[in-house]
Amino acid sequence: MLKKEIKEIIDKSKKWGWVLEPDAQKIFSLYGFKTPKYGVATEAAQAVSLARQIGYPVVAKIVSPAIIHKSDVKGVVVGIKDDEMLVRTLERLSKLDGFVGMLIAEMAKGLELIIGAKNDIQFGPMILLGMGGVGVEIYKDVSLRMAPLKVCDADHMINGLVARKLLAGYRGSEPINMEALKKTLTNFSKLMMDMQDIVESIDLNPVMCTAKSCIVVDSRIMLKK
Ligand code: ADP
Ligand code: MG
Repeated sequence: MLKKEIKEIIDKSKKWGWVLEPDAQKIFSLYGFKTPKYGVATEAAQAVSLARQIGYPVVAKIVSPAIIHKSDVKGVVVGIKDDEMLVRTLERLSKLDGFVGMLIAEMAKGLELIIGAKNDIQFGPMILLGMGGVGVEIYKDVSLRMAPLKVCDADHMINGLVARKLLAGYRGSEPINMEALKKTLTNFSKLMMDMQDIVESIDLNPVMCTAKSCIVVDSRIMLKK
């Protein structure tokens, strides 16, 4: 059963067919995923007070029903270090197509992974795990499994990656928290099972993993027509 808050978000998102990032992040935090602290602002004073509350440096991102791939339109600015840079960013982003606000978020760190799901006509929800960042398109290093996932399935998915050595700590880099990654995968599978009737696909790209935790930094939920 989906929570009432989630149903309300889905209903309001139907008119453009996907869930805006702040709403998607809300769904993920309701499901117990770790997400960066964030808020949405439309004008300067509000943006400044939000960013100070979160603590610089922050990330700013365009929120617009017309813009799915935010970086493609220079709609993401990382490492904003002060009020001045924040306000300048707001001025620029507010001119982009369909602007409804600017998301301001805490900066996350870690190894970038992708976790995704597609509703396959034949098999139902399929879950994907892969390395994130620019490398993903070059190496095509991904693991796929049918949902629902058990902890041992999540384990197999992680071990199926060529890049598993990177996750386990390679040449002095710190290993990521595998338990947190497995929990993120199984929790994601649960969410996808709950939402399979209404959702076409979901992408968490990136999820940032450190020795401590895995944080969902960006999420996109595409709804069924
Ligand atoms: P999109 O996928 O729509 O282009 P993202 O929200 O994924 O936009 O942002 C693009 C990139 O910016 C991410 O892949 C990540 O490297 C970086 N980024 C986004 N949000 C954060 C954050 N909160 N902390 C650190 N880096 C971030
Ligand atoms: Mg992204």
